[in-house]
Amino acid sequence: MSEALVISGPCAAESREQVLTSARQIAEAGADIFRAGVWKPRTEPGGFEGVGEPALEWLAEAQEITGIPAATEVATREHVRLALKHGIRVLWLGARTTTNPFLVQQIADEILHSSLTHLQILIKNPVSPDLRLWKGAIERIRQAGVTQVYAVHRGFQTGQPSPYRNAPVWSVPFALKLELPDVPLLLDPSHMAGDAALVPELSRQAMRLGYDGLMIEAHCCPAEAQSDRDQQLTPAELGELLSSLRDSVNPSFRNSVDPSVRNSDLSALRARLDETDDTLFLLLLQRMQISRQIGDYKRAHNLPILQEKRYAELVQKRLDWARQNRLDPDTIRRILDAIHEESCRWQL
Ligand code: PEP
Ligand code: MN
Repeated sequence: MSEALVISGPCAAESREQVLTSARQIAEAGADIFRAGVWKPRTEPGGFEGVGEPALEWLAEAQEITGIPAATEVATREHVRLALKHGIRVLWLGARTTTNPFLVQQIADEILHSSLTHLQILIKNPVSPDLRLWKGAIERIRQAGVTQVYAVHRGFQTGQPSPYRNAPVWSVPFALKLELPDVPLLLDPSHMAGDAALVPELSRQAMRLGYDGLMIEAHCCPAEAQSDRDQQLTPAELGELLSSLRDSVNPSFRNSVDPSVRNSDLSALRARLDETDDTLFLLLLQRMQISRQIGDYKRAHNLPILQEKRYAELVQKRLDWARQNRLDPDTIRRILDAIHEESCRWQL
């Protein structure tokens, strides 16, 4: 935990006093970077859209007072120009911006044009679980010469029910880590959860998974916040969370060498896991081969491939079994749907 990067601050900069008070308290709680949105993307018109350029002066003042850098969101070329003009060197691209390659490229061009080299740029995942958009945005910013690029996982809109405001869909950041292993990965549990009460548990999960840091919303007085009121911690809650993470997560485990190199127990378990996967995938292949035979039968007897009644029964049976065995029914449903889709493909 001690090397994990902690970025924290209010959703939005609202007044000079709110910024300076929050910044002081958040730096004292142990954050490395102070965040505050100056331009707020709102889904519908009429909400608080941020103070704009005057707030950049408050962020510059917060940097002076606390000694930690300030970060803000940029969504246009002009935002980048103004933030850099006011000495802000840590910028983030929000989820809605990462979704739009035109905007990302304009931001990259402005960064290149500035000739500033020591910028830190954080790139939130796009609104939908699209790995290529996220990776593409990271690549565009890197091509502008930025070496300190971070990926921020803030969850996705999937259209499916979720206990969170934005569903984690962990497979997407895991795939990003495989494709871009040198890009540090941070979790934003605040925009993921949408609820301050869920932020500590998500933060713990991120640290256990080996994430490189956290971006957490905290406000000197969350009840008075003009945006994202329900998900912001108080600076005291932030301090407690950071110290509990320090106590519960071994501070050096993220940098330790792959334990399988020296731990034979782990190697033995991994060997068993690999053998189980061999069996699992062989069975999957066998299942597809049977499926093909069923497909031949259906063709010969002029039956449609999709047999929804039979599929509904099969799903029900496996979901009941999953519940009895404490497997997550949603996950099992996704696996079943993928197997069924592949089966239908074998019957085409
Ligand atoms: C934010 O960080 O305040 C924000 C608007 O985040 P996101 O782009 O993740 O919604
Ligand atoms: Mn917010």
